[in-house]
Amino acid sequence: MTPLIDPFARPVSYLRVSVTDRCDFRCVYCMAENMTFLPKKELLTLEELDRLCSAFVRMGVEKLRITGGEPLVRRGIMTFFGAMARHLDSGALKELTLTTNGSQLGRFAADLAATGVRRINVSLDTLDERKFAEVTRWGRLPQVLKGIDAAQAAGLRVKINAVALKGFNEDELFRLTEWCAERDMDLTWIEVMPMGDLGNEDRLDQYWALSDLRARLAERYTVTDIPERTGGPARYVRLEETGQKIGFITPLSHNFCESCNRVRLTCTGELFMCLGQEDNADLRRPLRASESDAGLEDAIREAISRKPKGHDFDYSRQRADGQMSRHMSHTGG
Ligand code: SAM
Ligand code: SF4
Repeated sequence: MTPLIDPFARPVSYLRVSVTDRCDFRCVYCMAENMTFLPKKELLTLEELDRLCSAFVRMGVEKLRITGGEPLVRRGIMTFFGAMARHLDSGALKELTLTTNGSQLGRFAADLAATGVRRINVSLDTLDERKFAEVTRWGRLPQVLKGIDAAQAAGLRVKINAVALKGFNEDELFRLTEWCAERDMDLTWIEVMPMGDLGNEDRLDQYWALSDLRARLAERYTVTDIPERTGGPARYVRLEETGQKIGFITPLSHNFCESCNRVRLTCTGELFMCLGQEDNADLRRPLRASESDAGLEDAIREAISRKPKGHDFDYSRQRADGQMSRHMSHTGG
């Protein structure tokens, strides 16, 4: 089958799938405290998610990242991981992975490893119990730390993702770095993005530029650029003293779109061709319209033909330009 190539000659090889909009946390930068979640019938069933992901794999997607909401709170999610393992076995899929808040890893880490997941991203912004409860509202740090232990014990490689928040975890830069180094985990910092409806003001107050974070790291470590690019918004450096890889995800201050290889599927079957644009395609309709995948494949190709060149986020004029009204939990980040 002809692989998916967008109008700017970028192959689409990476699909991020949000399997639920629900979560057991309420992180302040991601969700409102009182969220209204989607009615069940709006959600794709696990079988529908399987059909959709399998169509993308047939069309050249080699990497699948499962996200949410919190993917591990979706009922029956291990069945879905088990089903996706067949694409790893066939060699069509090179990587099956997930981004999680870590709360359910104690239960699922061993099963994930058994289905062929090798690496996972765990989101963790602070090692301070009180601050963790503050930023996640509903989360508890010890449970997440136990989850990370379980993941490492199961042989999963763990990368920590931390949202850089001014006045919140600035003072933990070295503590987090050292903690990750001790546990042989890479660490990626994410600039806070103007998503959701919590108000521009908050987002701007919390904005901690990663250029500043990097400069502070360089006060203590020898920081060497790594040319490696993953087709996404991350850039990497190595800390020579620890050998650690540190990532910076700066969708706001750097233009990474020229090498973009990814699209995002929401739990209701909307395909977003760009994280920073509202344009999307409804794949649920063709999926439910027929048991054959022909219409679905046409709809996917039509959507990819609309993948834009880039996005419009910009904090540089002290306004959150290009602000998106959807929550990160909707597109899965
Ligand atoms: N619940 C899972 C988790 O927290 O890892 C997966 C979904 S969560 C939406 C994916 C990532 O998006 C997390 O690393 C989270 O920190 C990040 N995120 C959420 N809202 C964000 C925002 N406004 N700006 C930057 N990153 C954000
Ligand atoms: Fe939940 Fe992840 Fe959003 Fe936090 S960032 S509320 S853990 S979906």
